[in-house]
Amino acid sequence: IPASHDYELDRLCVELGDIIGQGQFGDVHQGWFRTKEAEKIPVAVKTCKLDADAATRDRFLEEAYIMQQFDHPHIVKLIGICSDTPIWIVMELAKYGEMRSYLQSHKHALDLATLILYAFQLSTALSYLESKKFVHRDIAARNVLVSAQDCVKLGDFGLSRWISEDQCYYKASKGKLPIKWLSPESVNFRQFNSKSDVWMFGVCIWEILMFGVKPFAGVQNNDVIGKIENGERLPLPPNCPPRLYALMSQCWAYEPSKRPGFQQLKESLYDILIEERQQQKD
Ligand code: ATP
Repeated sequence: IPASHDYELDRLCVELGDIIGQGQFGDVHQGWFRTKEAEKIPVAVKTCKLDADAATRDRFLEEAYIMQQFDHPHIVKLIGICSDTPIWIVMELAKYGEMRSYLQSHKHALDLATLILYAFQLSTALSYLESKKFVHRDIAARNVLVSAQDCVKLGDFGLSRWISEDQCYYKASKGKLPIKWLSPESVNFRQFNSKSDVWMFGVCIWEILMFGVKPFAGVQNNDVIGKIENGERLPLPPNCPPRLYALMSQCWAYEPSKRPGFQQLKESLYDILIEERQQQKD
C-alpha cells in the first residue's frame, strides 16, 4: 500500500452538505472541495462512523488506497482523504447518483444506444483494471454511478484486489458474496480473477438492458448455482440486440478460459454501439 500522505487534505477545504447515501461504514455526503486555485468543486464525502475501531477504520481507508492508483474517465476519482477522525474519503461527485435507480426512473428517456454506451464505458474501465492486474470482484449495477446522461463510472472498490503475476486467482476468505452475480468457480471455490470479473460484467450488462432489474429475482441464493450448473442462464432482455445477448452469453461460459477478455469485450461493445447508432439513423 503506497503512502497516503500525498492524498491528505486540509479538512478546512472540505465543506459537507446533505447526506446522499449510506455506505457500510457511514453516511455519504454531497459537498464542496476548495482547490489550491480557490475553485470550488462538487464532491462526494464518505464518512466513517465515529465509534469505529482501528481495524474498521483501516478497512474503510483501504478503498481509498485502491482508488488512488486509478486514473480513468469511467472510474470515480479519489480527491483525497482526511485520515484523522472523523475520517473522510473525498471523491469526485457523480451528479446523478446510483445507476440502478437512474435506469429505473429514466426508463422512458433512455434509448438502446445509451444503454449500450454505458456497457461500453464500463468495459473500458474494466479493461484498464485488467491491465493493472486488478480484479474487482463486485461488478454489479449497484456499484455504478451516473455522472451525466451519457457518462457512467465504476464507483465502489470495497472488494477489489491486486493479483500478482504468479497467482492465477484470489482466494476469498470468509464474508458475504454477491452470489447471483458470481461465476461458478467463485461460488464453488471462492476463486476470483479477471475471467470471473468478465462473468459478473455479463450480469451487469443484463441489469443495464433490464433497466435496473436485479438478476434471478425470486430465486434463493442457494438455488442459483444449481441452475447455472444445469446450463440455465439469465434470459434475453426485451429489445436486446441478439449480437449483444450472444456476447453476454459468452461471458457466462462455464469454462473461464472460454470467456472473452475485457479488451475483446470493449471492441465488440464498440461495434455493437456503432451498429445501434446507425440503425437509429436509418
Ligand atoms: P457498499 O459496500 O455497501 O456498497 P459502500 O460503503 O461502499 O457501501 P457506496 O455504495 O460506495 O458505499 O456508497 C453509498 C451510496 O452513496 C451510493 O450508493 C451512492 O448513492 C452514494 N455515493 C457514493 N459515492 C458517490 C459519488 N462519488 N457520487 C455520488 N454518489 C455517491
